[in-house]
Amino acid sequence: MDHLAFLAWLNEIDNLSQEQRVEAGRLLRGSPSLEGVIDLLEANIRETRVCPHCAAGGAIIRGRASGLARFCCKSCGKTFNALTGTPLARLRHKERWAEFAASLRDGETVKVSAERCVVAGSTAFRWRHRFLRAVTAGAIKLRGIVEADETFFLSSRKGERNLERTARKRGGRACKRGLSNEQVPVLVAADRSGSTISAVLPAVSSEHLQKVLMQFLDKDALLVTDGCTSYPPCAVALGISHESLNQTAGERVRGELHIQTVNSRHEQLKTFLRRHRGIATKYLDSYLRWFHLAVLPKHQTPRAVLAAAAGILPVTQNA
Ligand SMILES: [Zn+2]
Repeated sequence: MDHLAFLAWLNEIDNLSQEQRVEAGRLLRGSPSLEGVIDLLEANIRETRVCPHCAAGGAIIRGRASGLARFCCKSCGKTFNALTGTPLARLRHKERWAEFAASLRDGETVKVSAERCVVAGSTAFRWRHRFLRAVTAGAIKLRGIVEADETFFLSSRKGERNLERTARKRGGRACKRGLSNEQVPVLVAADRSGSTISAVLPAVSSEHLQKVLMQFLDKDALLVTDGCTSYPPCAVALGISHESLNQTAGERVRGELHIQTVNSRHEQLKTFLRRHRGIATKYLDSYLRWFHLAVLPKHQTPRAVLAAAAGILPVTQNA
C-alpha cells in the first residue's frame, strides 16, 4: 500500500465501531488467520442469534466445544457453532486450515498441498473443493467498457466410470477440429478497472450469455466483443450498448475498443489450469472460483481465503 492510500485508510479508523476496533486490533496484533475468521463468524451469531437449523432467533451461548463457542437454539433445542452450515463444518484438523488456505492462495497441486499440510492426497483434494464451494463473486458490477469473450476447454470425464468411448490420455487433443461438443465454453468478462467474472456455459448462445451477464453488467456498461453472432441479441435483450470488432477482417482495435484485457485473462486462466493437468469438466466451475480467489487478486491472504471459504467474504479483486 502506498503512503497516500495508507493515510486514507488510517482516516477510516475514525468510522469504526467499538467492536470493529477490537476486531481490527486483534488482527493487527497478528492473531492467527483461522481464529480471526471464527471470531468474525461468532460475532455475527452473537448479534443475530439466528439458528442455522430452524432460522429462529434467540439462541443462547452454552459453553465451548472444539475451541468454538457452542450456541443452543431455544426453539428447536439443537446446538450449533460458528462453522455450522458452512462448507467448513465437520472438516477435521482445524489447526492445518490456515496452512491449507495459504496453499490454495499459492495455487498448489494436490500433491504439493498434501505434503505442505501433512494430510493424505485425498484429503487435500476434498478440502480444496470444500474450501472453494462457498466462494462467490459477490456483488461485482462491471462498469464502463466491458469486454466479453469465450475461451474453450477440452471436455474431460476424468474419474468417471462407464465412458462411452475409450479413455483419452490426460491433456489429450480434441478429435474433432475446431469447436465441437468436446469443447466446453467459458465466458470471461472484464472491465477496465480489472473487475473480472467468469462462468462455464452449457453452450455459446444468446440466452446462456444473457443469464450470466445480466447478474454482473451495470446498465450503463458498453459491451465489447468479437463478431460472435450470439452477442447482439443478448445485448438487445439486456438493453445494453454493444460494439463488436470484426476480428476475422483483422480489426483488433477501434479507438478505445478492444478485447485484449479479457484475452489476457484467458491466458492467465489457461496457464493456471495447465498446472492442474487434465481437470474433469465437472470441477471446472470450482477451478474458476479458485482462479478468482487466488490468481487474480494481487495480494491475497490466507485469512481472506478462509473467510471466502466460510462464505463470509465474497471475492473482490482488481487484477
Ligand atoms: Zn433452531
